Amino acid sequence: MDNQHIAFNKVYLTGNEYKYIQQAISNAKISGGGFYTKKCQTLLEQKYGFYKCLLTNSCTAALEMAAILIGVKPGDEIIMPSFTFVSTANAFLLRGAKIVFVDSQPGHPNMDASLITSLITEKTKAIVVVHYAGVACDMEKIMSIAVANNLFVVEDAAQAIDSFYHFSDGTRKPLGGIGHLGAFSFHETKNISCGEGGALIINDPSFAERSEIIWEKGTNRCSFFRGEIDKYRWVDIGSSFLPSEITAAFLFAQLEMIDVIQQKRKDIWTLYNSLFTEKKLNSIFKISEIPGYSDNNAHIFYLDCITNDKRKNLIEYLAKNNINAIFHYLSLHKSPFFLEKHDGRELPQSDYYSDTLLRLPLYLELTKADIERVVQTISDFSKNE
Ligand SMILES: *Cc1c(COP(=O)(O)O)cnc(C)c1O
Repeated sequence: MDNQHIAFNKVYLTGNEYKYIQQAISNAKISGGGFYTKKCQTLLEQKYGFYKCLLTNSCTAALEMAAILIGVKPGDEIIMPSFTFVSTANAFLLRGAKIVFVDSQPGHPNMDASLITSLITEKTKAIVVVHYAGVACDMEKIMSIAVANNLFVVEDAAQAIDSFYHFSDGTRKPLGGIGHLGAFSFHETKNISCGEGGALIINDPSFAERSEIIWEKGTNRCSFFRGEIDKYRWVDIGSSFLPSEITAAFLFAQLEMIDVIQQKRKDIWTLYNSLFTEKKLNSIFKISEIPGYSDNNAHIFYLDCITNDKRKNLIEYLAKNNINAIFHYLSLHKSPFFLEKHDGRELPQSDYYSDTLLRLPLYLELTKADIERVVQTISDFSKNE
């Protein structure tokens, strides 16, 4: 068996990226909001039935726009998981919000919806859900809590492109398209990528007009470009949230191939899963379980190593065998920045996943032999445990 290095992630190129970037350059209009930006936005709106989509520089930027749109003021409380990326919290902290962290589910890193109601106060403004690994949070329950308490729901759907939630009445909706607002990431590590990029999904039409203004630095330039007004003015707060046409051109090359990319990722995920079952490794590690109400968009294949020591040893063993596996998310409530600000509640499930979760390589260049080698190496490790 050869011992070539297996990286954790490699960006996939569809082949049209250079062509579209060249086209964008020869259009001689490379600032944001042009031909490729519109093509990406329209593709996402039509494919997933989103009311409105705006491309952004990142998911972080889309979350910052969401915080502005729902009108977060200093002192407002925002409920969100502790087991997430820093941007989920920063976007709301930047507007002066108080972050109230909710624990993960026993059995899954997603937020435990049964804990939300007890955290709601008069100051609660929104629930921010994070669909970890593209697996849906319990949206039916979360939306009904939000309706009952008059709260906004923002979906951090950074990892959740092309994943769906199945409601009990048999209907399904794309993740990012269920709450008032949703945010996707097209960072290099995500299923669909343009290096750095994202999108804001506007599901509540009442946010549509203002979203364009905030996107365009607080001006009504979008209306001006549509010929609805004769000059554009400063009308609200905003920032520079649009990516350039070069980025949008790259992204379009990926988005138009989304079905192919998704099928290949799912094949890799399924192969991992069946090899783990075949080798009975699912009694030594816990493999991600997908709840019946969620699709699996194959963003992440992770193992729950059960103890921190086992994870440490496994990472070392894989590294010795030239395989790069990584862990992520250290509970935000225990971070150097937030520790003193947290209200002191224990969040044991979030800490558990911080200690035990391990992500395996998952990208389209991985061959069947690569995947077999990763699983065999883990199997060898478990025999020496
Ligand atoms: C990747 C990620 C982000 C940040 O995305 P950017 O596009 O890099 O800003 C935010 N939240 C979650 C859950 C993520 O996985």
